[in-house]
Amino acid sequence: MGVVGGHAIVIGGSIGGLVATQALAGRFDQVTIVDRDTLPTGAEDRRGVPQSPHAHALLIRGRLALEELFPGLTDELVAGGAVPFDPGDDLLFHQMGALRVRFPSGKLGTSLTRAFLESSLRRRVSALPNVTTRDQVSVCGLAGVTGRVTGVELDDEAPLMADLVVDATGRSASRTDPWLEKLGCPVPEVTTVKIDVGYTTRLLRRKPGDLPDGALLYLMSATPPHDKRAAAAFAVEGDRWVVTLGGWHRRHAPVDPAGFAEFADGLPFPYLADLVANAEPLDDLDARKFHYPMARRRYFEKLRRLPEGYVALGDAICSFNPLYGQGMTVATLEAIELGRRLDRHGRASARMAGEFYKAAGKIIDTPWQMSTGSDFMYPETVGPRSAGTGLLNRYVRQVMLASHVSPEVHSVILDVQHLLAPPAAIMRPGTMVRTLRAARRSPVHEQPAPRPGDGVPVKPKTVA
Ligand SMILES: Cc1cc2nc3c(=O)[nH]c(=O)nc-3n(C[C@H](O)[C@H](O)[C@H](O)COP(=O)(O)OP(=O)(O)OC[C@H]3O[C@@H](n4cnc5c(N)ncnc54)[C@H](O)[C@@H]3O)c2cc1C
Repeated sequence: MGVVGGHAIVIGGSIGGLVATQALAGRFDQVTIVDRDTLPTGAEDRRGVPQSPHAHALLIRGRLALEELFPGLTDELVAGGAVPFDPGDDLLFHQMGALRVRFPSGKLGTSLTRAFLESSLRRRVSALPNVTTRDQVSVCGLAGVTGRVTGVELDDEAPLMADLVVDATGRSASRTDPWLEKLGCPVPEVTTVKIDVGYTTRLLRRKPGDLPDGALLYLMSATPPHDKRAAAAFAVEGDRWVVTLGGWHRRHAPVDPAGFAEFADGLPFPYLADLVANAEPLDDLDARKFHYPMARRRYFEKLRRLPEGYVALGDAICSFNPLYGQGMTVATLEAIELGRRLDRHGRASARMAGEFYKAAGKIIDTPWQMSTGSDFMYPETVGPRSAGTGLLNRYVRQVMLASHVSPEVHSVILDVQHLLAPPAAIMRPGTMVRTLRAARRSPVHEQPAPRPGDGVPVKPKTVA
């Protein structure tokens, strides 16, 4: 018997639900995953996770956290075709007008499709003797009494009872607010940051020599706030490229192949256009599109009254601007934290939930401030802005410029972006001095000044 015992239900069998299940399986006698989708056995995209076909980056901190929950996972993913890479050396990262200088970081990243990651986690979780998965079953409410959740209500079936219900229903989870209200529970305050990000994605065949060197490409806004475009070409399992083009504030790429190629051609990143023009498309239709209007954070940690027997997790608490690749990492860290809180309390009490949300809030704070803070480099971004954001963004710009020439500064920013070091690391005196010296040497100072207007078509013929 686990430390808690009894039955836990996890609503949602996506990444958040799967990491939660892994954390709960050693602590409860039985865990049931309920998902309204048809869950595939292999690495297939599915309707309930429309973001699945689009480029997904797994941060190094996320890989390490997944490894903590699922020992041996990295080796298993690589054996299955995930592409190992050094994020300092193999990732050609273009930001603020030039490529970051490359250096061997000694860190290990793995590049893979989200569907492959989800199917690998599902295989692991399904092999646990006390885990049951029920797909094609939709949860339509919470069962319980005032202040206490005792299970879930299902469409066309009797309720399913549990000692803990984990809500991992994703970013549309505010739909569950009425479920909580029905049980007399207050609903969390919500903050949104409007960014209107768009993703358009194609899958291409990967051949040796497609790129001169390097396994992956990532481009973020060459000259903000004029240029709002972003792009990724990730080498993934099955000898494929996932190529995602898009940007902030409706600077989205077209879905038709010609428009997609033209968008790639206009980017200040020479290899990408050649890749899109020459690699064999593996999607029979036009590219796939995803519109992400706003980042959304629900502040459960501010609630003074919490229901017993219920916690939300993953995107159901906070859905980040996907361009920063933080969601899967945060969900995994939350699942680990949930396990720790259950160990401490021995039951899914309201106090346990309160402590969990406080810890989850701390996990979320840093990536939330980093991503929303960066989004405010665009005047079109709408939402509550922390004091000092403008000043900080001006300094962060210098850090990015310095990363074009200084491996030391690149190393610091890499650790911060992968959630391995706190953002304060860029403020350490040594890093500040290096930043201010190196930023002046960035090759962008030799490029023509950006013009006002969207997506300035500056395309250097060689890599800066
Ligand atoms: C375009 C895009 C790109 C992204 N890129 C990255 C990236 O690069 N790196 C990264 O770390 N993260 C990225 N993310 C975020 C990442 O996809 C999520 O953080 C991750 O999937 C965890 O989400 P989740 O499991 O909490 O919710 P979801 O993945 O949204 O899953 C919710 C699950 O709940 C089920 N469900 C919903 N309602 C019900 C119900 N009533 N009854 C039963 N089942 C229900 C759904 O079928 C689904 O399976 C991206 C997101 C988007 C939108």
